[in-house]
Amino acid sequence: MRRTQVAIVGAGPAGLLLGQLLYKEGIETILLERRSAEYVSGRIRAGVLEPGTVNVLERAGVASRLHAEGLLHEGVEIGFRGRRHRINLKALTGKSVTVYGQTEVTRDLMDARAAAGAPSVYEAEDVALHDIAGPSPRVTYRHRGVGHEVACDFVAGCDGFHGISRRSIPAAALSVYERVYPFGWLGVLADFPPPWEELIYANSEHGFALASMRSPTRVRCYLQCSLEDRIGQWSDERFWTEFGRRLGSEIGARVPSTPIAPSIEKSIAPLRSFVAEPLRFGRLFLAGDAAHIVPPTGAKGLNLAVSDVFYLSEALRNFYREPPGDRAESALDAYSARALRRIWHAERFSWWMTRQLHRFPGDAFDERLQHAELEHLFESRAAQASMAENYVGLAL
Ligand SMILES: Cc1cc2nc3c(=O)[nH]c(=O)nc-3n(C[C@H](O)[C@H](O)[C@H](O)COP(=O)(O)OP(=O)(O)OC[C@H]3O[C@@H](n4cnc5c(N)ncnc54)[C@H](O)[C@@H]3O)c2cc1C
Repeated sequence: MRRTQVAIVGAGPAGLLLGQLLYKEGIETILLERRSAEYVSGRIRAGVLEPGTVNVLERAGVASRLHAEGLLHEGVEIGFRGRRHRINLKALTGKSVTVYGQTEVTRDLMDARAAAGAPSVYEAEDVALHDIAGPSPRVTYRHRGVGHEVACDFVAGCDGFHGISRRSIPAAALSVYERVYPFGWLGVLADFPPPWEELIYANSEHGFALASMRSPTRVRCYLQCSLEDRIGQWSDERFWTEFGRRLGSEIGARVPSTPIAPSIEKSIAPLRSFVAEPLRFGRLFLAGDAAHIVPPTGAKGLNLAVSDVFYLSEALRNFYREPPGDRAESALDAYSARALRRIWHAERFSWWMTRQLHRFPGDAFDERLQHAELEHLFESRAAQASMAENYVGLAL
């Protein structure tokens, strides 16, 4: 049986970053990931980093490529009733966000872990947690047909929404809060220089749309779609036509049309708000999507994963800093409440952005309120400051 201090389940941004932050503190980890390294490093997901996230990545020693290649954005635009309104993040908060794909963050973290020589097991099957309620937890898994067992002090459950960590906690010990939205996001990744300078979020009568980018040569765009829609129903041509309809002809005309910009990835994701609390059960800690989901409208999913593991790494550092006989669990006890406070602020903001920008079926009263809220936002500097403060992220 192998022994380590912290067994990390999941090599998404939460698990990889936690491993790197703990490595910097001299704390031993093993990382167990169900998928292959190629699959993990190729996955297309988020792309907007709060300045607090950039700070944590700097502390982890993985920000040099981010600083060289990331795009600093000082504002975002909101399209409504044929006009675009700019929210000047920099003027309102003194801060900017950085556009740098989660794929790149993941690659930087994987490279750093490999350089550190820290153990990672990709394609780990049947990962299972044992004795997490007591002081001597164990993790078992199979790799290339061979069974393995790891004894550890703590388990970090960073295995995303569908992972096994949260499900290893008895239902009676968790409270779950959830909202499922009656639509999804159809996302397209395409290789052409973004013909818009900043992200444009559009509330149109045909539904929400987002013009975004991942690099100076790659765009990422989304359309609100029905949960019944299937990828096969959305040819590239149909996607870009609808995109132009929702964002307005001026933006639509900037998308290459002859030939039509081909997608290099296309996916449909349902929108959900979800929080499971507390984030600790015995010797198991939950972090990132394993504990919570936000609809992507506020660009908070990746940023929350980073703040969770930043808090968790601090708690573990404070625990291990004391000599073995004197170790108190007060910092570990505080992790859940500290992280949840920030999680709920991000949940509120993501819900608010989703509520203001999408078409909801049915209620005309709610629609009038949504329009009044948007007009207030465009007219009130105080309302813009509130949005900007949340968009760039609350203090860590
Ligand atoms: C399709 C998609 C698009 C998204 N787009 C955006 C966006 O545009 N903006 C935004 O802010 N956020 C977005 N998000 C959310 C954001 O990407 C996540 O919040 C972020 O990835 C959370 O990181 P994580 O490490 O907590 O979880 P994950 O990235 O989900 O990583 C969890 C890891 O655990 C592994 N795992 C799962 N089960 C097991 C198991 N049993 N054993 C071992 N390993 C396991 C998984 O393979 C995965 O590698 C998107 C998410 C998805 C799914």
